[in-house]
Amino acid sequence: MATIFNKIISGEIPSYKIAESNDYLAFLDINPLAEGHVLVIPKIEVDNLFDLDDATYTGLQMFAKIVAHGIKRSVPCIKVGVAVIGLEVPHAHIHLIPVNQVSDMNF
Ligand code: 5GP
Repeated sequence: MATIFNKIISGEIPSYKIAESNDYLAFLDINPLAEGHVLVIPKIEVDNLFDLDDATYTGLQMFAKIVAHGIKRSVPCIKVGVAVIGLEVPHAHIHLIPVNQVSDMNF
């Protein structure tokens, strides 16, 4: 069964897209922990980030790095934090979260 993120990739479910390539997509989290909280996903449907093939995993990290630099330029923050959780949506994803203090990362 397609995950909610597959429906976001196909456009069946609307999202605020930040960046997109043939293989990856970055979009705003619907329930952000901070302004500018972005999810970065591979378009291939794999549950766990660490089960991605090496090329897709490496490409995702590079894509996330570019997006993180864009967030840093656009959102007032000390740095862009990274989190990998994956409890809610079984489609590999990276959280990019602008942070200003420790309490911003209060999951
Ligand atoms: P995790 O699986 O890492 O625990 O969390 C999944 C994340 O996906 C959550 O931060 C949640 O807010 C986000 N999310 C869940 N459904 C949607 C959706 O339909 N649209 C968007 N933009 N984000 C979603």
